[in-house]
Amino acid sequence: MSKGPTVKGRVLSGVQPSGGQVHLGNYLGAMKRFVELSKTAETLFCVVDLHALTSVKEAEKLRDYTRSLTAAYLAIGIDPEETILFRQSDLPEVCELSWYLTCNFPLGLLERAHALKDAKARGDTVNSGLMFYPILMAADILLYRAEQIPVGADQKQHIEMTREIAQKMNSVYGDLFPIPEPLIEESTGVIPGLDGRKMSKSYNNYIGLFETEKALEKKVKRIVTDSLGVEEKKDPEKCSVFKLYKFFASKDEQNALANKYRAGGMGYGVAKQELFRVINLELSPLRASYDSWMARPDDLEDILLQGAQKARVLAFETLSELRSALGVGRY
Ligand code: ADP
Repeated sequence: MSKGPTVKGRVLSGVQPSGGQVHLGNYLGAMKRFVELSKTAETLFCVVDLHALTSVKEAEKLRDYTRSLTAAYLAIGIDPEETILFRQSDLPEVCELSWYLTCNFPLGLLERAHALKDAKARGDTVNSGLMFYPILMAADILLYRAEQIPVGADQKQHIEMTREIAQKMNSVYGDLFPIPEPLIEESTGVIPGLDGRKMSKSYNNYIGLFETEKALEKKVKRIVTDSLGVEEKKDPEKCSVFKLYKFFASKDEQNALANKYRAGGMGYGVAKQELFRVINLELSPLRASYDSWMARPDDLEDILLQGAQKARVLAFETLSELRSALGVGRY
């Protein structure tokens, strides 16, 4: 793994265990970067199962998804010896902090959240957890006084909200929190799903990171393209297949495929086959590692619990200072 640029301050991020598997959007948009950061900075990465409760309503499923996501972190190269890898709900302290933040969070700000607006526009039944999602996310970040938050481009607004609430808390209660910075790879952008919308578990338009070779090939074939015929010239930059290809192919391979698009005479089936080949090449070893972690559920649990113990030391410090500043608890 190449060493990324050194970042200043504690790094934290999380992924929801809200679907069968992490997907290419999570991996390319955020998680691949987690691994680089873990080699050079103090990092905390979590399985945000409390957030997943906004959509997952079956206990056994949530436990499965949590195991799967933990195995995913390990399979992509997160080393629990150098990173605090933990499960959000192992530190219920985060719910306590959420309440303190809620009491200071402007309601109007929550109502403007894109994620909430999108859910309403889709006609989803919106529970209050979805509305308060950004507050719980702010609590995740502030509880551990994290300063750098690597996320995908879709999370920009939530980090902005965290910055606002941190500033507000500091102005009311004294200098308690560093103001976190988003670490967004702007050039990565939002990864498109099979239907061209943002790849997301909630849209069920995703390519799982550890799908079997067969399933991966099938999914790639389902990527929606325009209806231009084989002979017609095509624009690679407007095509989801090519957008994904760029993340896995070398510069030479990218140029070669882009030229075929522009020249005409190539059907999308050929581009898809080429995309499948490069994705499979990169993901095969990760898939094998994922499968072997999934066969060791007790080890996954131990790793999470050890992570929680380390995280608790940081959480305790923050909450002790904050409780005293708020005037709650023993004096
Ligand atoms: P989902 O939207 O599938 O529920 P999460 O909310 O758990 O995914 O996101 C985990 C991380 O993956 C976040 O940092 C998020 O920004 C990133 N991410 C998710 N989907 C995409 C996407 N399509 N493109 C870029 N980054 C993404």
